[in-house]
Amino acid sequence: EAKAAGRNALRFFNQQMQTAAMARIRLETDMRQSIAAQHFLLHYQPQVDQHGQLIGAEALVRWQHPQHGLIPPGEFIPVAESTDLILPLGRWILQAACRQLVAWSSDPALAELPLAVNVSARQLHHPGFVADVLAILAETGANPKRLELELTESHLAADIEEMIRRMLQLQSHGVRFSLDDFGTGYSSLGYLKRLPLSRLKIDRCFVRDLLSDANDAAIVRTIVALGQSLDLQVIAEGVETVEQRDALLQSGCSLYQGYLFAKPGPAADLQGWVAGARRAGNR
Ligand code: C2E
Ligand code: MG
Ligand code: MG
Ligand code: MG
Repeated sequence: EAKAAGRNALRFFNQQMQTAAMARIRLETDMRQSIAAQHFLLHYQPQVDQHGQLIGAEALVRWQHPQHGLIPPGEFIPVAESTDLILPLGRWILQAACRQLVAWSSDPALAELPLAVNVSARQLHHPGFVADVLAILAETGANPKRLELELTESHLAADIEEMIRRMLQLQSHGVRFSLDDFGTGYSSLGYLKRLPLSRLKIDRCFVRDLLSDANDAAIVRTIVALGQSLDLQVIAEGVETVEQRDALLQSGCSLYQGYLFAKPGPAADLQGWVAGARRAGNR
């Protein structure tokens, strides 16, 4: 009887796996078609300093699915990363971000705005990456000094020397780099010193319980101190409350991104947010 139950469980498991595999294949096929049809779009989230002044924005991709509506990146970026789909999708994302930079360059309030774009490890480690980024900058006419690429500690798992070479090549054109989700991975401090980074982003998991969890508060202070000693800016992600922002400021972190300031939204929302912030400042 136990054996029969085991067999049934096994059959069920296989069925589930098959369904999951099929769902994944469908997702992949869908994504491939959507890349061709350009069914993706970028949302933008402002980044501010301690006075609430806009200091930059992060581009975040969404999938405008013809049947399923707006799909967040957590549901398709991992699949894109496990196939080569992240390469054409990543190029599209960089193109769209650079076009937006050019569009903003005629708006006095946004002309100098740096824009951060997330880059997957698989993209960066692809041999054509540097050439692709430079070609996109040239084609769109975007200012490389306003482009910031966000890497994660997962990038550090592969060939570090090659990665540093690529970063330096792009840096020589003015492109900057930040390390996203910092503290969740396994960067060795030795590597951190060698990477041409300009910024660390404190992962939002340390910000969430900052006020109640002494360990998180200690981690935040450590990242801030690390940033100071390596001469890197430090920005906190996922800032949702005034109390969190105040605690961050007390810990020495004066740059923020989070729902407290604005959720990610279409480019027009960011323009509206800037206009609103300017009106508030003039009052
Ligand atoms: P990330 O790069 O760490 O982006 C920050 C995420 O935190 C975004 O989620 C943003 O909407 C969310 N967030 C911002 N402020 C708050 C807050 O106050 N509270 C909470 N709870 N969340 C906040 P999103 O847009 O769903 O993106 C998730 C992840 O997907 C990103 O994390 C990034 O790893 C990846 N991703 C997004 N866009 C791209 C892209 O264009 N290319 C690549 N390769 N990955 C991307
Ligand atoms: Mg990011
Ligand atoms: Mg992050
Ligand atoms: Mg993340």
